[in-house]
Amino acid sequence: MNAQELVQKHKLLECIQCGMCTGSCPVSRKVDLNIRRYMREVAVTGKIVKYSQDVLWSCTTCSTCGLRCPKGLSPFEFLIDMRSMAVEEGQIPPTLRDALESVFKNGNPWDRIRSKRTEWAQGLNIKHISQGAEILYYVGCTASYDPRIQEVAKSLVKCLQKAGVDFGILGEEENCCGNEVYGVGEKGLFEFLVEENMKLFNKYGVKRMVTTCPHGYNTFKNRYGQTSFEVQHHSQLLANLIENGKLKLSKELNKKVIYHDPCFLGKQNGIYDEPRKVIESIPGVELLEFDRSRERSLCCEGGGGRMWVDIPGPRLAEIRVQNAVDAGAEILAVACPFCLLTLEDAVKTTGFEEKIKVMDIAELLALAL
Ligand code: SF4
Ligand code: SF4
Repeated sequence: MNAQELVQKHKLLECIQCGMCTGSCPVSRKVDLNIRRYMREVAVTGKIVKYSQDVLWSCTTCSTCGLRCPKGLSPFEFLIDMRSMAVEEGQIPPTLRDALESVFKNGNPWDRIRSKRTEWAQGLNIKHISQGAEILYYVGCTASYDPRIQEVAKSLVKCLQKAGVDFGILGEEENCCGNEVYGVGEKGLFEFLVEENMKLFNKYGVKRMVTTCPHGYNTFKNRYGQTSFEVQHHSQLLANLIENGKLKLSKELNKKVIYHDPCFLGKQNGIYDEPRKVIESIPGVELLEFDRSRERSLCCEGGGGRMWVDIPGPRLAEIRVQNAVDAGAEILAVACPFCLLTLEDAVKTTGFEEKIKVMDIAELLALAL
């Protein structure tokens, strides 16, 4: 892609230089990620500008800049294209390159072998989608392999089985969804994943899907260009099951819970109410709110490939944990595996382990069954 194509595709000449994008960017607090200036430079010079590696890979693709832009531009999509060019030239952090190679080789970015993908599900009596099921539970790479996030998958399974939902999984056939692959600009690999995954979904006649990861939800809904199946985030399905009386919550949880809106669920897809409905339905729970909640939620820095790229400077997840403790919360509830991992790590590094616990909404719900 040349500079002229970038200018046209991202409507760079429509930018009024208001600076709302840079001003709202959570990462610009720690690195010189001046997205307004970068767009301007390409528009004015008509040349591709090279940015430092720290700047280029610092964006979490949280989408706040796009949400704030009064001209309806999407600055982060411009940055993803800049990343694509860097990837083509082999300018990519080694940790990220390894993650992408693992996606191609193993179907996951965590460098784990495919045959271990369903270890978490042993003994849970979950059928393979080939046996016929109304809903495909797309587990995702992190819930399949990370021991902490496997607990979220198990909790969701407990809730679905209790509610009598007819669901199945893809087992070892499941592949990476590609959301992060797209976000770091490896569009060739992303197209390959779309093709492979769509073949698989069509083979099993998938019409409905649920996922515990907003990144998977986002990519299947917005990036696959598909209309053959409907995808739900687990917060939507669980809220629906509670509303329809299919999930009865009998145990009290007497806790103060604060909810952190994941960027890929909230800002990118407008899902703010369902996770809150799930939390509020649990007997004995008091739901608290951050000052910065819903579309103002502070990014945890887990998206856009940042799970594999460390950027020096103050960690936003630590600020978030401090804010949760200051609000008097005992549980910091999330609805995203990356948020769970980054925030749980921040609880440890801030020394708040005795004060607050990070849990997915499915885990909270499973405790109340
Ligand atoms: S997507 Fe988020 S991190 Fe990236 S430039 Fe926009 S506001 Fe900053
Ligand atoms: S918010 Fe939109 S219009 Fe304003 S500087 Fe950023 S890209 Fe330009």
